[in-house]
Amino acid sequence: MSLSRAIAISSLLGWLFSLSTPAAGAEIIVFDQVHVLPMNSVQVSPEQRVLRNQRVVVKGDRIIAVGSATEVAIPDGAMRIDGQGRFLLPGLAEMHGHVPPLVDFSGMPERYLNDVLTLYLAGGVTTVRGMLGHDQQLRLKDDIASGKRLGPTLYLAGPSFNQRTVTSTEQARERVQQHKREGWDLLKIHPGLSLEHYQAIADEANKQNIDFAGHVPEAVGIEQAILLGSRTIDHLDGYMAALGGFDKVLTAKDMAALIALTKEHNVAVVPTEALWQTIIGAADSEKLQVYPELQYMPARVIAGWQRYLRAASGSYYTGATAAVHAENRKLLLAELYRAGVTILLGTDAPQLYSVPGFSLRREIPKMTAAGISNYDILRSGTVLVGQYFADKDQFGQVKAGQRADLLLVDANPLDDLNVLYQPAGVMVRGQWLSRETLDAMLAEIAQARLAESKA
Ligand SMILES: [Zn+2]
Repeated sequence: MSLSRAIAISSLLGWLFSLSTPAAGAEIIVFDQVHVLPMNSVQVSPEQRVLRNQRVVVKGDRIIAVGSATEVAIPDGAMRIDGQGRFLLPGLAEMHGHVPPLVDFSGMPERYLNDVLTLYLAGGVTTVRGMLGHDQQLRLKDDIASGKRLGPTLYLAGPSFNQRTVTSTEQARERVQQHKREGWDLLKIHPGLSLEHYQAIADEANKQNIDFAGHVPEAVGIEQAILLGSRTIDHLDGYMAALGGFDKVLTAKDMAALIALTKEHNVAVVPTEALWQTIIGAADSEKLQVYPELQYMPARVIAGWQRYLRAASGSYYTGATAAVHAENRKLLLAELYRAGVTILLGTDAPQLYSVPGFSLRREIPKMTAAGISNYDILRSGTVLVGQYFADKDQFGQVKAGQRADLLLVDANPLDDLNVLYQPAGVMVRGQWLSRETLDAMLAEIAQARLAESKA
């Protein structure tokens, strides 16, 4: 990058960040006259799902008050955001996301990491469960938490447990202890592990009080993964392998026992349905190529995705029977939902046409297609995530004491979830990003991509 362009970009960024920082002295921000979706932790009646004409007061990174204008005064010097006719809900989570390395040696643009963090925020994602740790990522997490860098709050799985990184049961246990010591939030399981090694990981994780989650290795199988305490099953991995659902039509009855086991052991699922349709060969690949959000991704990343589609020979690719496989997955998700299994919102961004933040608009319609209600889709990305991370912080609801991660939208998302995709503003840990700020940030990323393609 040329020096003049570097200066141009850094001055634009300076401008953006000054825009998003409240005026000096206005460390308190008030959303006024806004309809609130508190996303309660307990079941409430449909009428209680929206609180009309509320004031929500934010100080620092916390919500400090929610109530009517008669109950809550506007503190002196507060910055007021007019919420009239708008709806305020908790920021959303990406429960199976990825974050690029701090230092990248694969030829990505230097700014790619910041771009990914910005894209998450612009898509309304204020929390990311990062599902593959790498060097210095814990520092990145701290830098974001302390406000040195703008981005969603990160909770991070450590580097992969797979057949290459795990060589014996003793070494597996040491690796679990090491990840716990280093401060990772959970352990990432990949395919390839033997049952013996998986059992050692599960047992040690239990002793060390650290979660493990992710894939279901073939030699382990879904039943053992559930029994041994995988905190989440990501991608609905393992179910179709156990049920023979890759190429023959399944019924709800076929799935009932495994679903009951999932529920009984309180294991949550992160379906990543949109991505998985691409992986198994059931997506319309021409549609993927014209996703408008591709303008924000480096050419190198998109080329990699296109290569995957052309080769399409991954272990999960089911080719001619992809449509059957996809229908079975849809029924599985519907039945998991019906049984009351915890479903968490996740898309595996940025992988295979899942552009950070934007991928929610690809995933959510798949959840709707499986019969999940708008309210429960919102729960999957808010209060249920807060409950999942209850030992880390309080977030995922609009109430006093919660982390000030908020999404302001123009209409009631319970009527139409499409309003989520063009928020009037996003607040992350108390920092307000208005629509104008988000648009400027997005335009700046698209501009950089154009410039790179000409370089
Ligand atoms: Zn992933």
